[in-house]
Amino acid sequence: MSKKNISIIVPAYNEEKNIHLVCKEIERVFSLLKDKYFFEIIFVNDGSSDGTIAQIEKMARNNSSICYIDFSRNFGKEMATTAGLHNCKGDACIMVDADLQHPVELIPEFIKKWEAGAEVVIGVRKTSKSDSFIKKCGGKIFYKIMRMISDVPIVSNATDYRLLDRAVIDAFKDLPERNRMTRGLIDWLGFRRVILPFEAHERVNGEASYSTIKLVQLAFNSIISLSMLPLRIAGYVGISIVFSSGILGAVMFVDRFVLNWGFNFSGTAILADITLFLMGVILISIGLLAFYVGHIYNESQGRQLYIIRKKKL
Ligand code: UDP
Ligand code: MG
Repeated sequence: MSKKNISIIVPAYNEEKNIHLVCKEIERVFSLLKDKYFFEIIFVNDGSSDGTIAQIEKMARNNSSICYIDFSRNFGKEMATTAGLHNCKGDACIMVDADLQHPVELIPEFIKKWEAGAEVVIGVRKTSKSDSFIKKCGGKIFYKIMRMISDVPIVSNATDYRLLDRAVIDAFKDLPERNRMTRGLIDWLGFRRVILPFEAHERVNGEASYSTIKLVQLAFNSIISLSMLPLRIAGYVGISIVFSSGILGAVMFVDRFVLNWGFNFSGTAILADITLFLMGVILISIGLLAFYVGHIYNESQGRQLYIIRKKKL
């Protein structure tokens, strides 16, 4: 039986103190698996301003299983993982943070689930004590919204700590969009998914570089890129306003000119109702516009129409 090849993708932004540690840890894990698997580590240096790349180069110099990609500037973690996925050669890849928050000792578990037939193994984070209140609450709300509006099943507290099968990596490579959130796109791809809960460690050295603002931006991006609902809400609001003010208008009309129920609506009330009705019409038009914009948006993303797992023609 030939050995399989596993790629470990590590995005790194200002991680000079950690990079050596992760590398050692990963090597230690694979020294136990060496009968069955080859491995390569792909570091993606995301425009670090410290000595990260020097460290990586030093480690890669006399070690053929360590590869790296060096970005010209900071493009963000999403782009770093994307570059790793585009360039890895393994039969499967695992994405790991450089700050040792993702417990590397779980790699054999990921591989086990993969060997058992999973094509995507998703590391799901048990909540950690060190998380700020904002991050915890924000995360909860984010996943609630995502699950409500997205056409794709979303797993709460899913992280980027994931294993992807070759078929998934190849499908991922064909995704064309520029504004990407790796996790969301992988979820969109589908495939057989299995989750693996883990306890996140504290960051070893340095500080998390994702500020709250950046996280909110990321959340917003992923909502926008997976769903058209925010655009359509205007239309739905419009429909309900037109409906209710229309009924009220009919009551006013009948009261004044036909049956005289004795409500005696004032002129102001009638005017207000007419205004409300027209506002509703405008909102419906906006919602309608949203459908067209949504259509254009879908087309302009140019995603592949379907994803194939395997084929024999
Ligand atoms: N990272 C990156 N580019 C960035 C920010 C972060 O490649 O612009 C890497 C970082 O080096 C780490 C991982 O992404 O390996 C997770 O980043 P961080 O620990 O700052 O975020 P969090 O733990 O809050 O998810
Ligand atoms: Mg971290």
